[in-house]
Amino acid sequence: MFILFGTKGRAIETDSGQFHCPNCNIKEEYGKKYVQDWFTLFFIPIFPISGKKNNHIECRKCESIYHTDVIEYKPALNEEEIESEYEKALKNVLCLMILADKKVEGGEISTVSNIYNKLTNDKKFSKNQIDKSIVKLKKDKKTVNQYLKKIKPYLNSGHRELIIKAMYLVASSDGHLDKKEGELLMKTANVLEMTSAHVKGVLSELDKKNNN
Ligand SMILES: [Zn+2]
Repeated sequence: MFILFGTKGRAIETDSGQFHCPNCNIKEEYGKKYVQDWFTLFFIPIFPISGKKNNHIECRKCESIYHTDVIEYKPALNEEEIESEYEKALKNVLCLMILADKKVEGGEISTVSNIYNKLTNDKKFSKNQIDKSIVKLKKDKKTVNQYLKKIKPYLNSGHRELIIKAMYLVASSDGHLDKKEGELLMKTANVLEMTSAHVKGVLSELDKKNNN
């Protein structure tokens, strides 16, 4: 009998999921695969004759092949996304400041609503929405760093100063800056990589304006 044998490289899938395919430039399904040479008999793979090699990611749509690191790849945010992330972060840090002294005061809520409106060219953050955000913040218990993480690389120094000023105005809207409020302010400045001298400068500017 004539026996036909040979070898064949097979791509074997070990995992799958979704990733941002740099070629398709949208979210696609991927397969994580490695390649292994197999002994074949009548073209049927019988057993592997090599180790697992060439771990890679393959896009199911365009079949492009990538290094496994491609799963971590995230496209840069576009302008609209930056804007919406900035607004989200602003809402969260301002509400965090309302909560800093453990008392939710009416004055603080209207200050947040006004400041948000001013800093976003007339976008609304109503008392009702603020109440809802506060409930969510209490439940999530995230740090100010977590709320700013996504947007931080996109903030320019003007944005950073505005965030600090706005938080300060909320904190001092009841007439004084509570110890916890001061701590949250400095923590935020720290996250935003602003020095305490920078913060002092920004806030003294604010005091001058208020006194005039
Ligand atoms: Zn693709």
